Amino acid sequence: MKEGIHPVYTKCVVKCACGNTFETMSTKSEMGVDICSKCHPFFTGKQKLIDTGGRVDKFKKRYGIK
Ligand SMILES: [Zn+2]
Repeated sequence: MKEGIHPVYTKCVVKCACGNTFETMSTKSEMGVDICSKCHPFFTGKQKLIDTGGRVDKFKKRYGIK
């Protein structure tokens, strides 16, 4: 690779909405995600997503859904 033209590929701390954090490689040193391998239904085996911070409730209230 040529020097100076590529973004720095470094260790990245990823923070998930469920509270889980893990490290990966990225051009950013820190980033946030809404879902990770700890809370994704594919990995947890659960049908519903975990409603962190009542975001689903807020959405329902906004659109008048009970
Ligand atoms: Zn997560």
